[in-house]
Amino acid sequence: MLVVQKFGGSSVADTDRIKRVAQRIIETRNAGNDVVVVVSAMGDTTDDLIALARQVTDDPPPREMDMLLSTGEQVSIALVAMALIAAGCPAVSLTGAQAGIYTNGIYAKARIVRVEATRVKQALREGKVVVVAGFQGVDGAQEINTLGRGGSDTTAVALAAALRADLCEIYTDVEGVFTADPRVVPDARQLTEISFDEMLELASLGAVVLHPRAVELGKLYNVPLVVRSSFNNKPGTLIREVSDVEKPAVVSGIAHDSNVAKIGLFDVLDQPGIAATIFSALAAEHIDVDMIVQGAMRDGRNDIAFTVKRNDLRKALDVIATIKDKVGAKGYTFDEDLAKVSIVGAGMVSHPGVAAKMFDALARAGINIEMISTSEIKVSCIIRAERVADAVRVLHAAFNLSQNG
Ligand code: ADP
Ligand code: ASP
Ligand code: MG
Repeated sequence: MLVVQKFGGSSVADTDRIKRVAQRIIETRNAGNDVVVVVSAMGDTTDDLIALARQVTDDPPPREMDMLLSTGEQVSIALVAMALIAAGCPAVSLTGAQAGIYTNGIYAKARIVRVEATRVKQALREGKVVVVAGFQGVDGAQEINTLGRGGSDTTAVALAAALRADLCEIYTDVEGVFTADPRVVPDARQLTEISFDEMLELASLGAVVLHPRAVELGKLYNVPLVVRSSFNNKPGTLIREVSDVEKPAVVSGIAHDSNVAKIGLFDVLDQPGIAATIFSALAAEHIDVDMIVQGAMRDGRNDIAFTVKRNDLRKALDVIATIKDKVGAKGYTFDEDLAKVSIVGAGMVSHPGVAAKMFDALARAGINIEMISTSEIKVSCIIRAERVADAVRVLHAAFNLSQNG
């Protein structure tokens, strides 16, 4: 078998852990497998590097930021390869560029467009364990791009797809995917398996245990994906395509995202092209817009509010300042202390009343809902950031998720 194993920051946080990771890799190899390893930066290295940049400037150029952040993973690949070699296992470390991970040139949130795995395959043929830096790639101009926070998962799945690996294991600091973040809900239940679609929804809605793009690629290329702990040998959670004969859970999990800001524009003109102008301008700056609410029209004028990631707020406000006159807005506001809490479940579509139950549970806890968005498989509410942990716990209890589903 060919196995891709990805180890997150906490799994390689110090040199003892790196040695333990090396032992696990060697066990996998001794069991007769070829192993490709993807690693993240050690512990909080990425956060520390961001803080370092902020000490130099408030507005680091995106290119230099990616140059800086990509160094974190370069430290860990070298140390993991050294630990393997010291334990008698042939190994070689490769940066994203050396491993043939090609990206689309968007700094800080690049997408992998192509994997040219010839060098990885060659090293495997030479009997080596290949240790690849996660979270980074290189664009057509040889510039280093990073994939967005949590992006090492995506490197692992993209490599697994390109190599047609038999399995991609994501080793982290929890035992698998739970019905909610186990750090927020202590009695969250671990799922033995979950469908790609539900996992994609949870990840996109803020469950950081997997990077959304990793789940998307897993589904697209049918990569068997397992999330498990690097601290024990428990089997973890299998993410897979579910056959439609099975009855999906009404609500299978709660996700939350504390990285939310809202911008509201007042009294924009009510005519064709206004929304297009606003959201094209934001898209041109690669700002992801999440929820959009347009209020009822009065006197030929509308209010439009939308949410973005908090770390995109500054950029988004700059964009709005440049187009506000063009759309006839009389003013705009922003709010950066928001969060999103969501219920996810493939069975929701056939169960009316699920959203009402969510709103009722939040109301009973005195949590005000500022915006709502729904799809067949989820309901999301924007609330004050300071209530998000309460909201997750209240919803987890309301939908009885601690009980076996
Ligand atoms: P790594 O550094 O290994 O990539 P991350 O911090 O990115 O680790 O992801 C693991 C974390 O994801 C866990 O520590 C947990 O707090 C969080 N998490 C959020 N939602 C979930 C969930 N539904 N199931 C499991 N973990 C979750
Ligand atoms: N080191 C990067 C981060 O902290 C990538 C990752 O860990 O997946 O976001
Ligand atoms: Mg992660």
